[in-house]
Amino acid sequence: IQATFIPLLDEEDKITGGVIVLTDITELRKLETVRNDFVANVSHELRTPLTSIVGYLDTLLESDVEDPEIRNKFLKIIKEEADRLSILIKDLLNLSEIESHTFDLKPGSFKNVLNKVIKLMEKNAEKKEIELQFEIADDLSPVYMVREQIKQVLINLFDNAIKYTPRAGKIKITVRQIDDKVYFSIKDNGMGIPQADQERIFERFYRVDKARSRAFGGTGIGLSIVRNIIKQHGSEIQVKSREGEGSEFYFYLNTVESK
Ligand code: ADP
Repeated sequence: IQATFIPLLDEEDKITGGVIVLTDITELRKLETVRNDFVANVSHELRTPLTSIVGYLDTLLESDVEDPEIRNKFLKIIKEEADRLSILIKDLLNLSEIESHTFDLKPGSFKNVLNKVIKLMEKNAEKKEIELQFEIADDLSPVYMVREQIKQVLINLFDNAIKYTPRAGKIKITVRQIDDKVYFSIKDNGMGIPQADQERIFERFYRVDKARSRAFGGTGIGLSIVRNIIKQHGSEIQVKSREGEGSEFYFYLNTVESK
């Protein structure tokens, strides 16, 4: 609670009374904290690769690194960190665009979008010898969606499933319709997510294991983009997972039959 005193003055500016205004600023404070946390997180995430870029550049410039092998190694690190920065900025812009607009949902074929994404991701799965299984119903009604956004959701979930599943693992995609909803699920037999982290993984920048996620090229933004998009579709992204056994992410979309 914030209290403000407004004095009432007479002609000679003497205080003759006053009004106390009490304002409940809990919500305001909360919003402020969320925003401050976000800015702090963004700054930290941007600074980490930048510090490393500047560090390696300084070394290259100041101490004549003559060994071409070492020089190349440093340049490669600089390139990797710069790429990381650019992915991070792309993800951030993407998230802020999704958060600041409401989009028009249009009827479309979920299966078409999914097939496109499968074609895109198959190669990555193959590289890790991951076996893909599909159980996709034939007669699905059109769903209300923003195509590009649903494509993004599927890419992010698929990408994570591949990233967090070891070589020669398994990923199963299931799509079925129950009444006026199309259900999508992607299940892997990878490392899984500890119970305590399961609620938090949808937060911006939250990663179960920062070092490991970074090594995989993760920014911690993918799932917050997923949650936002699915929310805009009037639905909710959910997760079931057991550490060491695997994870399943699932959501539904409303078909044109739903009201
Ligand atoms: P990142 O860019 O780190 O992958 P995400 O927002 O996509 O960020 O995911 C947040 C965190 O959730 C990841 O760092 C990882 O710890 C965990 N996670 C996401 N998907 C999976 C999965 N399929 N299996 C295990 N852990 C996962």
